[in-house]
Amino acid sequence: MNKSLTYENWTEERQVKALSHNSDYLDVLKWAYQEYGDEIIYSCSFGAEGIVLMDLIHKVNKGAKIIFLDTGLHFSETYELIAKVRKRYPSLNISLIKPQMNLQQQEKWYGDELWKTNPNLCCHMRKVVPLREALSEKKAWISGLRKEQSPARSHIQFINKDEKFKKIKICPLIHWTWEDVMTYLHRNELPYNPLHDKGYPSIGCTACTLPAAVNEDFRSGRWAGFSKTECGLHQN
Ligand code: SF4
Repeated sequence: MNKSLTYENWTEERQVKALSHNSDYLDVLKWAYQEYGDEIIYSCSFGAEGIVLMDLIHKVNKGAKIIFLDTGLHFSETYELIAKVRKRYPSLNISLIKPQMNLQQQEKWYGDELWKTNPNLCCHMRKVVPLREALSEKKAWISGLRKEQSPARSHIQFINKDEKFKKIKICPLIHWTWEDVMTYLHRNELPYNPLHDKGYPSIGCTACTLPAAVNEDFRSGRWAGFSKTECGLHQN
């Protein structure tokens, strides 16, 4: 009988017991792949921390399944980065997940530039629903969230009960700072999105991403003009 920790059998006690008190990011990843095997995927945004996590995952599981939520609206630099990463880690199983509705269909049904009138609906259709489908047969997923990124993310743990998708969400990099991330990238000569060097600490779709001051709010350049700060993947 498979006794892995799942959304359904979650208890605080089981969660606390899963890792030792001194566990670090690599211990978390090793535990996650041991616990879930093929029933876990990494949803990578291809941001700076996403590349760090990709490299760490490659050390632990060379054939790991990784997805990118391809809204069809990302920067060309992001797509170029994905091509470089695929070349660097040919053994990793990286897939681009697309929404059911293409942009022309979305425009027809919901009007031109939905991200300007209803970004929550746009994110829901282009990110949340595709991730839900990708997770449907899985027990857990991995995310590169860091506590430092925003007040809303400051409470994340290594292992989380994800009420949104009814899965276990593993976040190995919660204690990493932006400086840690960039140091790791440079030290290991890893490719990363050149927009990070142009004032974009957080990179999403072109229409919803502006530069932000790194030392103020990492996500202040996302959905400028709206109170929205999250695409909905990490909100219960
Ligand atoms: S980030 Fe903007 S363009 Fe991308 S899915 Fe969300 S609202 Fe739509």
